[in-house]
Amino acid sequence: MGTSAVRVRFAPSPTGFLHVGGARTALFNWLFARHNGGTLVLRVEDTDAARYSDEYVDAIYRALRWLDIDWDEGPDAGGQFGPYRQRERAQLHRDAAAQLLARGAVYECFCGPEPVESKPSEAEEASDDGLSSRAVRPQCTCATLSAQQKDARRAAGVAPALRMRVDPARAVVVDDLVRGRVEFPAGTIGDFVIVKSDGGALYNFAAVIDDHAMQISHVIRGDEHLANTPKQLLIYEAFGWQPPAFAHIPIILNEARRKLSKRDGATFVNEYKALGYLPEALVNFLTLLGWSPGGNQELLSREEMIARFTIEGVVKHPAIFDHAKLSWMNKEYLKVLPLDELTARTIELLQRRSPVPDRIDPPHVARVVQLLQERAYTLGEIVDQGAYFFTSGPVEPAPDAIAKYCATTESMQRLREVRDALAAEPRDFNASEIEAAIRGLAERTGNKAAAFIHPLRVAITGQAVSPGIFEVASILGKDVTLARTDALLDGLAHTVAK
Ligand code: GLU
Repeated sequence: MGTSAVRVRFAPSPTGFLHVGGARTALFNWLFARHNGGTLVLRVEDTDAARYSDEYVDAIYRALRWLDIDWDEGPDAGGQFGPYRQRERAQLHRDAAAQLLARGAVYECFCGPEPVESKPSEAEEASDDGLSSRAVRPQCTCATLSAQQKDARRAAGVAPALRMRVDPARAVVVDDLVRGRVEFPAGTIGDFVIVKSDGGALYNFAAVIDDHAMQISHVIRGDEHLANTPKQLLIYEAFGWQPPAFAHIPIILNEARRKLSKRDGATFVNEYKALGYLPEALVNFLTLLGWSPGGNQELLSREEMIARFTIEGVVKHPAIFDHAKLSWMNKEYLKVLPLDELTARTIELLQRRSPVPDRIDPPHVARVVQLLQERAYTLGEIVDQGAYFFTSGPVEPAPDAIAKYCATTESMQRLREVRDALAAEPRDFNASEIEAAIRGLAERTGNKAAAFIHPLRVAITGQAVSPGIFEVASILGKDVTLARTDALLDGLAHTVAK
């Protein structure tokens, strides 16, 4: 592999499920790698022992696989730049820190047990560009300690942290591929901690050591990390290493242009899976969150996304998470999904319901999804709208449906008549025969077909509206249709008779 090869990484911290923002970062890295024939590295940043969990590591793998984002190197995939779990790289971080100490680029800080690096405050993170003017960070005076003073602290049992020496008079320039040139006065950065007193490397330091060791060529990550970049550049500089190129991709906001939160609905990839969104649609949607292929085309195949993805197409302004657009997109993907595929995925979702419904054999489910495919926005809607199809048991008619179509003795009389007409039908119970039977009955009795159809629909679906009733009855089958009709007649006979 030549030195100019594209190597990018997705570096999640496994402290939670994969957020849509994280998935978008993974996706942009994946698209960039695939577009350039490069390599995608998955690095699990699990150094924060207190917050990380193996369960979340697995959840992140599962979410990426579901989205069909594959990586070339990683904890499970292996590769020549491992280990790929950051906690296994602790010694490498310590050795690198020792080098900087020997060069005088860092100094020992005895300020306190946990002089942790200051994170951007909430306000800074919320600001549109992450660059709001910040107060000069307070600096400790440990840089000026004499060897004797340091020995005394050590003798008193104080373990030192390591702090980067930053010349406050200079500036650090980030030449970002998306944001352009951004200058940070070093005085706003201050001498920052790279290794805690317990020997643990902090994020900015570990990321630099690992990105360098893994020969990462481009760091593509969320905008919230732009403020970390000058610190990382100072670390590259202290080692005399060539930094990678940086591309900070725009923040994702809700429709009110605020940070995406739980209140905006699902924010984790697994939630979208459970709701019955298609991974293809979610990938298409996320690809357009901060990237534009130019022109108005919104539905792109994977091949098109890969062929057209460039950093130049990444926009600077915040990306708005538009739920309506995602629903529309999902519907478009649902419509064109081959029937056997749609059936298999619907069954998968049905199997995760509790209790698992009893009528989920593939031929039956295929007939249902064919009927609902054009109407539903998600697989979840197919499962919910079609719930009465997936059980052979009784349905509980909705009170408003009863009130509307089954409240009179006449309507119950029509239901009894249609029940008897259907009972005389052949067992195969196909839709056109059912239709002929009901229309024939209407003609014979001088009633409108609707007089039979409405109460029948309530009886067999429990609802006032449904897809075409002849097809619905046919799919349910003769036994279930008659049993549900009888149940309604029996149940209502009491109330109407009173
Ligand atoms: N572990 C960091 C995160 O999840 C990675 C940031 C980076 O890509 O450098 O935010």
